[in-house]
Amino acid sequence: MLDRLTQLEERALAELGNADDEAGLQAWKVKYLGRSAELAEILDGLRTLPKEERPAVGRQANQLKANLERAFAARDDAMRAAALERSLWGEGLDVTLPGRTLTRGRMHPANSTLRQIARVWAEMGFQVYRSREVETDETNFGLLNMPPHHPARDQWDTFYTRQEGVLLRTHTSPGQIRVMRERAPEPIRVILPGMCYRYEQITARSEIQFNQVEGLAVGHNITFADLKGTLNAFARRMFSQDIQTRFRAAHFPFTEPSAEMDIECLVCGGVGCAVCKGTGWLEVLGCGMVHPAVLENGGYDPHVFSGFAFGMGSERITMNLHRIDDIRYFWANDMRFLEQF
Ligand SMILES: [Zn+2]
Repeated sequence: MLDRLTQLEERALAELGNADDEAGLQAWKVKYLGRSAELAEILDGLRTLPKEERPAVGRQANQLKANLERAFAARDDAMRAAALERSLWGEGLDVTLPGRTLTRGRMHPANSTLRQIARVWAEMGFQVYRSREVETDETNFGLLNMPPHHPARDQWDTFYTRQEGVLLRTHTSPGQIRVMRERAPEPIRVILPGMCYRYEQITARSEIQFNQVEGLAVGHNITFADLKGTLNAFARRMFSQDIQTRFRAAHFPFTEPSAEMDIECLVCGGVGCAVCKGTGWLEVLGCGMVHPAVLENGGYDPHVFSGFAFGMGSERITMNLHRIDDIRYFWANDMRFLEQF
């Protein structure tokens, strides 16, 4: 019996040495330390042995059990350590590599110009009024003195929704009607910035979406002199203190009289270059005195109130400020373009 125990120990330890994975180790445990293992049988059968053999066999069997348990624990630890080691190296985590730097976001050039424009107007007492981008035909055209079949509508083809008379605004001007109807008969000094849409062929000069900043002042005794003075003040704050401006007669259905304001070319200073097409002037905005019919549609009596309005394309201004020659860059999401600002 004692020999049998010695052989059992040799066999068990040899097999334990060959167990090289978790499954093999567990199988070994069942085979040698399990409830129906040979050793368990021997321990169970102790009382059937002759009395004088019992103590020696019992002692050795218990000794064997302790040895096997210790050997198992040691093998188990070694295999866990090896597995940990393997996973650490196997996943290739090299802590000596420098970390990846986070790229910082930056302002889109269209937005930074919008903010700059809003800041200048805020200094002059104009509030920002947010108006909707989805408009009705009536607000976008009709109430702005462009009834159906008005020829001016040809310049403003847009995107229509499936709902009759609902469209994407072609300009920020419908906001004039909305702010007037909300504030009448209080005086108004607001700018209305935001995205506008037109159904156009996309070229270097025209996009189907662009930001405009509309401005509106309504009150008593507002004259064309106020319009010119205010817009000149804006140009000086926005571009440079000694910038030259000029007003040219123009026509818009919702202002009377109407004008366009040019500023001295920012690139050549008025001498003439490719950016200003040799004229020395850059067109910045359209403006005029609010048409009496529009004032009336907004809820103001045109015999008592007067006002001026203007509208500028902020991408156009950004293009002049940074000499960008293609408007398509603004919405193309090309990092090479955006990273320059
Ligand atoms: Zn020029």
